[in-house]
Amino acid sequence: MRKEGKKIVNISTQAVLPRLIFKVYPKNYILYGDAMQKSDCLFCKIVRGEIPCAKLYEDEHVFSFLDIGPLNFGHALVVPKVHCKNLFDFPPEHAQALIMALQKVGRAVMQGAGATGLNVVQNNFADAGQSVFHMHWHLIPRHAGDGVLPWSPKSYASQEDMAGLANRIIENLSI
Ligand code: AMP
Ligand code: ZN
Repeated sequence: MRKEGKKIVNISTQAVLPRLIFKVYPKNYILYGDAMQKSDCLFCKIVRGEIPCAKLYEDEHVFSFLDIGPLNFGHALVVPKVHCKNLFDFPPEHAQALIMALQKVGRAVMQGAGATGLNVVQNNFADAGQSVFHMHWHLIPRHAGDGVLPWSPKSYASQEDMAGLANRIIENLSI
């Protein structure tokens, strides 16, 4: 690595997708270590240390820090170091590292916050509540009766209604 973000490091271990993104958006993106990052992204800036955070964990592929607006105290975020907007452009090659970090940090969040439960939440697109467009996973420690994240199930009108929707979803699996 020469100057921040301007020199390719470990090119042989770069994921294929970020390399393609780099070719498409050479001005908007910078390479950093083993991951492709976006210069004007809030969470890429946190990963690079340009914006302060309460850091919890870091490895080659993953970074974790406390959410600044916690739903419960100890609410943490786990993000891939590679920039992706949401689940659908996340390079699956990084998935194992991400899950391992969720397990490691999740256990620690529960212990550290004295929690007896944990929600793992990941919002995709604004209509699902996503406000930062660098994929991130919320680890929300839970306590009995805390009322956080109320769950209010609906009912299908009929079995046919339910089966019809299942079929419409199945038809889209090949897309
Ligand atoms: P989402 O609504 O799923 O996109 O979640 C974005 C989360 O990022 C929110 O829970 C925010 O509180 C959190 N957040 C925004 N800015 C920061 C920051 N600078 N440091 C830590 N967490 C942040
Ligand atoms: Zn980013």
